[in-house]
Amino acid sequence: MKEISFESQVLHTPFEKEDAYHSLSMPVYNTAAYEFDSAEAMEAAFCGRTSDHAYSRITNPTVQYFEKKVCNVTGALSVTALNSGMAAISNTLITVAHAGANIITSSHLFGNTYSFIKNTLGAFGVEARFCDLTNPEEVRSQVDENTCAIFLEVITNPQLEVADLKKLSVIGKEMGVPLIADTTVVPFNIFKAKDFGVDIEIVSSTKYISGGATGIGGLILDYGTFDWNNSSKLSEMVDQFGNGTFTAKLRKEIHRNLGAYMTPQVAYMQTLGLDTMKVRYERQAQTCLELSKQLQSLKGIESVNYTGLKENKFNELSNAQFGPYPGAMFTFNLSSKEVCFNFMNKLKLIRRATNLFDNKTLAIHPASTIYGTFTEEQRQSMDVDSKTIRLSVGLESVDDLYNDIKQALEK
Ligand SMILES: *Cc1c(COP(=O)(O)O)cnc(C)c1O
Repeated sequence: MKEISFESQVLHTPFEKEDAYHSLSMPVYNTAAYEFDSAEAMEAAFCGRTSDHAYSRITNPTVQYFEKKVCNVTGALSVTALNSGMAAISNTLITVAHAGANIITSSHLFGNTYSFIKNTLGAFGVEARFCDLTNPEEVRSQVDENTCAIFLEVITNPQLEVADLKKLSVIGKEMGVPLIADTTVVPFNIFKAKDFGVDIEIVSSTKYISGGATGIGGLILDYGTFDWNNSSKLSEMVDQFGNGTFTAKLRKEIHRNLGAYMTPQVAYMQTLGLDTMKVRYERQAQTCLELSKQLQSLKGIESVNYTGLKENKFNELSNAQFGPYPGAMFTFNLSSKEVCFNFMNKLKLIRRATNLFDNKTLAIHPASTIYGTFTEEQRQSMDVDSKTIRLSVGLESVDDLYNDIKQALEK
């Protein structure tokens, strides 16, 4: 069959069951529990012999429909929706990690992810091995028999650093370690994580998918590509679950015990967001590239960092992995922290807010906010510069954004 477009596929994903009223959009099943016809049916569902819903901490039809849409357009083996991107990260890493294990990652990470790996998992005896992921040989030298994951962000935020995923994936395959990637910064309609050897993909659906930043959510996509015989923690499940071993461990144990499943209201809104994501993204990313080019020659701006710019040191790799529009976020440096604060305070159209990929353009000074509670030394080791402004580009026109930035830079 001829392949249908992302937009058509996502919009026309069929419901699991025919709706009693032929509703065209997925109903929101605001229920905690589900009734059974018999004790036998109840037993069968609770023991996993049927896939009937029992309790909405575990599955819910509205959330499942959202998961199915993501599954269909990405070719994932399974998708699990959580109530935040952080829940997706913590559920994933807790599924693969154990006391005595280590995770190979970089200190160039989203602040909470860094803290989760270093402090939260660290307290349970999981070691964080921070290294330069743009140097595959360094990664290889860090892997040992206790390594349970190579974890990275495909474009780091706010450094905008890009690692060579195919090279890391080769190392992962050779050494028997899964490659787990947070791809929040580039949506899955442009970045096909599976083609680059990513075994488990994590997305904060709060960002592009949500569309208008209506709620918090996260996704775990299991591509079924990793041989879990290589995992001392999961290998005993492989006979029963095969390439679905990770998802089985996640859905049957970790996700139930941590209790962070997406709520039906959020799933409903994020389903609407997903339906229009590709169209919004194309507009936002094109504006991002155009605006970043224009700002390169604007007085007062010392440097512009966007991997879509041909002057950027990651441009070639970024093009190969993400195409010409690598995310709708970029950063630029002004002359000092004080100048940055003055700039932030003078913005009229662009909003002062955290979050990424809202329909509105958002500006933040990362060093004093997301990284505000880190020490100066930690910020330096993470390459978070107090002269940097991060811009998440929304749906406004390039001219409106340029003019707002220009007036905010004037003395
Ligand atoms: C926002 C973000 C997260 C966390 O997602 P939440 O939905 O806020 O929990 C993780 N990684 C990246 C790259 C992010 O931008």
